[in-house]
Amino acid sequence: MNFLFIQDTIDSESIGLAYISAVLKKAGHRTELFIASLEDRLFEKIRDFSPDAVLFSVIITKQDYYDKLGRELKRRFPGIRIIAGGPYVTLKTSFAENDWMDFGVIGEGEEATVELAQALEKGLDIRGIRNIIYREDGRTVVNELRELNEDLDALPLPDRSLYLKYNSFRNLTVKRFISGRGCPYSCTFCFTRKLRDMYSGRGRYIRKHSVERVCEEINLMRRESVVKTVHFSDDIFLTDSKWLTEFYNVYPGKAGVPFQCNLTANIISEETIRLLSECGLRGVGIGLESGVERIRNSVLGKRFSNEEIIRVSEILHKYNVEIYTYNMIALPGEKIDDAIETLNLNIRMGVKITQCNIAIPFEGLPLTDMAVEQSLLSDNSVVSQMKRRPESPIIKVENPEQYERLFLLFPFLARIRAGNKLIKTLVRLPLNFVYRLLHRISYFLNMKKYYDISLFSGLRIFLDIRKGERYLRKVFRQWL
Ligand code: SF4
Repeated sequence: MNFLFIQDTIDSESIGLAYISAVLKKAGHRTELFIASLEDRLFEKIRDFSPDAVLFSVIITKQDYYDKLGRELKRRFPGIRIIAGGPYVTLKTSFAENDWMDFGVIGEGEEATVELAQALEKGLDIRGIRNIIYREDGRTVVNELRELNEDLDALPLPDRSLYLKYNSFRNLTVKRFISGRGCPYSCTFCFTRKLRDMYSGRGRYIRKHSVERVCEEINLMRRESVVKTVHFSDDIFLTDSKWLTEFYNVYPGKAGVPFQCNLTANIISEETIRLLSECGLRGVGIGLESGVERIRNSVLGKRFSNEEIIRVSEILHKYNVEIYTYNMIALPGEKIDDAIETLNLNIRMGVKITQCNIAIPFEGLPLTDMAVEQSLLSDNSVVSQMKRRPESPIIKVENPEQYERLFLLFPFLARIRAGNKLIKTLVRLPLNFVYRLLHRISYFLNMKKYYDISLFSGLRIFLDIRKGERYLRKVFRQWL
């Protein structure tokens, strides 16, 4: 059968889709991917490929886009089946009530998608397929979850050929890999925690590939494109000290490509960073989220102090490891001075590349429940990125306009290591047009640094992402 994946923009490749493609191909099916914003004749190309089914992964902030895409596909191609998976479908199974959607896949979808494909091909009953959602007699049926696949190496290598046909992906010198699945932490704003609860009693949730297999995947990608830096996109790269020893012994000889990864402050010791930097560690992403300990730990469920994070940043600087932080503002119980404290802590840590997000309360997560209990949300529905400006606070806060300015200025002020007085003055000045420009410039510079690329390549990626944003706006005007 022909299976077509559609992804809205090229912001980042979906390794999840690449795994699904790999298992479908292994089962004898044909697969293809279209990045909608990079295809001028999307619907004509869909017609030419003539898929039996279209699949997409609905990420939480893009649910409106995929809803519209699903409707449009059903209107133009009523005979094609549409299968939706991804975090949003897992989190909100009632998404399957949309009548354009034929099947949903929840949780880890490799085996379920292959079984579904086989059932569709042979006209078999799909009712017993675990991890599948379907509609019957006007009601949505959510099948039971299967056990987790504990042997990740048993999966075929993810099918990157889907993305390699796009220059903007092929020419990226930093490529993403996943060395394992699952996260042991319980941050109140994170989908991962919800997934772990769902899978409770259904197998080991935190799993790693063998280092040999990770190296094999990297080396295959190196043969097919440029890989100057590996970005391990695991939620948390180190979850197991035995695996670190294996990594230390195997990675430098078998792959040896400089790499970046995500770590959390409470697991970083000088010895760990020394070992990792001998293996080629160049950058670490840390979810700092808030500069105020009370908010970070009690509201967001993190587990480290300001003292610890300063100690960690000193270790990372000592080993010349670049730090990237993820930050969140406009949180329950937060004042604008607390949000400014988040920026100040980044500056004290000497971080140049920061990402600041406005807190988005997704349905079913503890942070959202907290905001609802405190009457800080008008409702607890999932908030679509399409329906709001990215700088607008969603949870009710005092001085929302100052939050908007802080959001826009955050990466720039961190980069220039601004003083507290300057920060406080600027968030009070209504210069949003200038701040928006600074935001874009800082975003571009951060990307250039992060991907370690030339000005020209940085500009090309930046323009592709802008093209994606314009595409989404166009869709929202056209398909309404
Ligand atoms: S550490 Fe990261 S992935 Fe893990 S629960 Fe927290 S935010 Fe989610």
